[in-house]
Amino acid sequence: MIPLPLNQLVKHLAKLPSLGPRSAQKVALHLLKSGDSMAQLQHIMQEVSEKVITCSNCGNIGLENPCHICTNEKRDKNILCIVEGVDDLWAVERSGAFKGFYHVLGGVVSALDGIGLEELNFNQLVKRFNTENFEEIIFALGASIDGQTTSHLISREIKQLYPNISISTLAKGMPMGADVDYMDEGTLSLALNGRQNF
Ligand SMILES: [Zn+2]
Repeated sequence: MIPLPLNQLVKHLAKLPSLGPRSAQKVALHLLKSGDSMAQLQHIMQEVSEKVITCSNCGNIGLENPCHICTNEKRDKNILCIVEGVDDLWAVERSGAFKGFYHVLGGVVSALDGIGLEELNFNQLVKRFNTENFEEIIFALGASIDGQTTSHLISREIKQLYPNISISTLAKGMPMGADVDYMDEGTLSLALNGRQNF
């Protein structure tokens, strides 16, 4: 029923994160209806694929390699924040609370999907320790089991090579503006365990 080229577009869109087949169909029909959006999108996508590149040092994306963060002399050279993806790097940057450098792993280990440290941007991380002088690592990975396993495995490897390095992870607990009675048991239990002196 759906013309073949349109069906191919729907199939491709459906593979995108957060878009199932029905949403993909809606997006495809919307693009088809407004011919201008389709042409504009085509142009933008072309530009993104030509100009946006991955930093071979940290895994961030940008217009230059190394990226604008790796070449920023004003940042704190002693601290490295390890994140899962570029979107996590953006989130930490938006907080304005971190002025060190980053390393983007490109995922987390997953026994289910057969992803180990070798499949991540881990070898480059070890190389960086040989050439840069980090004194502290902060893990800003998700609070999932896989995220915690990844932090544990990497810190074990790094501690073996550099026993004096200081390693920490993001605090877990109450989000800003949250009500105690609306928090799930897991988060509340983490918040209680991570309580701070008042
Ligand atoms: Zn970089």
